[in-house]
Amino acid sequence: MNEPYLWRELCTDEVRNEDMRFKNFLFDNYNIVFSENHNAWMRIGKTNIETKNKFELGNITKIITGENILFKGSSFVDEHENGVDGFHCICGCNKCGELFKLYHKKTNNCFLVGSSCVEKAGHDDFVKNKNCASRNGRCRLCNIPLKINGKYKNYKKSYNLVCMRCRVEKKIYLRIHYNEKDHFKEYFKTKWDADLKYWYWKGYEDKIPEILKERILNI
Ligand SMILES: [Zn+2]
Ligand SMILES: [Zn+2]
Repeated sequence: MNEPYLWRELCTDEVRNEDMRFKNFLFDNYNIVFSENHNAWMRIGKTNIETKNKFELGNITKIITGENILFKGSSFVDEHENGVDGFHCICGCNKCGELFKLYHKKTNNCFLVGSSCVEKAGHDDFVKNKNCASRNGRCRLCNIPLKINGKYKNYKKSYNLVCMRCRVEKKIYLRIHYNEKDHFKEYFKTKWDADLKYWYWKGYEDKIPEILKERILNI
């Protein structure tokens, strides 16, 4: 009765051992480990490139995913993600100040690499976008780098750190007394929410008239 159950346990043990063997092999030969913390493969310590090709990013990704990640179109980056602290790119370079997540499309394996290796993998504007993030900041709702100019423009300074895509009209509830309601209605087009029993102003957050700001309710 218990046999199929036992068999399944044996099986997962085997998978686990296989996985361990593979990870040991990568560590012993390439100084590559899998970081549970970042959910990504990364290089640790050693940078001395004994055999030039052995440490090449393409080679290492090929061992792990079966594909050379430098092949254009085989990878993706998520612009919403921040870089992480670190010096060692998978390729062996130790001069990075920050590392970025480069994903292999087919297997979803993730590699921590320097920005120049991200560009080498075919993401031509990556450094440019990264510079936008340090110059203009990131959207406070979706974290995308804010770009003021160019083809991928997604932001105006007046938007107050919200990208065009996240910038939507909102109902902003206000503290307005009964005897003030007509005045506000006439000058600021405030409306009555019959369900919540509050007055509100509807529009883009950054466009709310100065006078209404001090009356905003936190609901
Ligand atoms: Zn690199
Ligand atoms: Zn956004």
